[in-house]
Amino acid sequence: MEIRNVAIIAHVDHGKTTLVDQLLKQSGTLDAHEEIADRAMDSNDLERERGITILSKTTAIHYKNYKINIMDTPGHADFGGEVERIMNMVDGVLLVVDAYEGTMPQTRFVLKKALEAHVKPIVVINKVDRPVVRISEVMDEVLELFMELGADDDQLDFPTVYVSALNGTSSLDPDINTQVHNMDCLFDMIVKEIPAPIVDTADGLQFQPSLLDYNDYVGRIGIGRVERGKVHVNDNVTCVRADGTLTKFRIQKLFTFLGLHRIEVEELDAGDIGAIAGLADIGVGETVCDNAHIDPLPLLHVDEPTIQMVF
Ligand code: GDP
Repeated sequence: MEIRNVAIIAHVDHGKTTLVDQLLKQSGTLDAHEEIADRAMDSNDLERERGITILSKTTAIHYKNYKINIMDTPGHADFGGEVERIMNMVDGVLLVVDAYEGTMPQTRFVLKKALEAHVKPIVVINKVDRPVVRISEVMDEVLELFMELGADDDQLDFPTVYVSALNGTSSLDPDINTQVHNMDCLFDMIVKEIPAPIVDTADGLQFQPSLLDYNDYVGRIGIGRVERGKVHVNDNVTCVRADGTLTKFRIQKLFTFLGLHRIEVEELDAGDIGAIAGLADIGVGETVCDNAHIDPLPLLHVDEPTIQMVF
């Protein structure tokens, strides 16, 4: 199965959550009995550890022969570091913009991060079903924002899909009457426009946690992209720590994402996004290597303030 890694970015209320739910529903990745209310992307049980707030949730859908990992992103400027680290894992973004409201402060903030990371943007004009929309003005605003933020020629050449995430319709044409009753325009755009993850084919594992999560049974989990090689459960590996020291450990569990769930797997392949358990104090930006190839990636910076989240 081919992989696509994409982040979804938007101003609050422009429809990220509704869009991911609709993609999940239409891809058939959700089990019939699953309640969207239990959804992972919007859970309120935010875990906080050492000042790193986990606001991002990952989900994955299957479409045709592709597994599409979708990373949610926090829109707030306080979490700029987290957005940057997510951009490090993906090859493209869906920039969701409300067809009436147009570009807003958080649209600018998250698009800036995406353009800086040189990932491929797809513009998703959402809520085209609203009684009053301003599609052509909104498109002008989007183009202007790309230019203001210094987009290069390739980025300026962004494709656009017009959708109603609520109704599950999509079109490549701004004319609302051309909407079809599925999200295939968007699915096809993702697999066509967002490049497959580039992986280093040299020997040796490289896995860099970009986010942390916590699980009662296995403790701290590092979520990241396998940059190189393969990792299996029970592998003996070495973590190159932030201070340059080495810590050996055994991979206890590996997880990938499917629908709203994190599922246990035996191995993770280069290019995929997954989670590693086995090192109780694994940190963001460190590199997990196999013992024979200690070859750390550049450290990722972590700039989040410690924030008490109240929900
Ligand atoms: P998020 O903050 O970006 O995750 O936004 P949500 O997905 O929670 O959506 C915010 C609001 O917009 C909710 O009331 C949704 O029902 C509504 N919404 C989302 N997509 C659409 C759409 O395509 N059409 C309309 N009319 N409303 C939508």
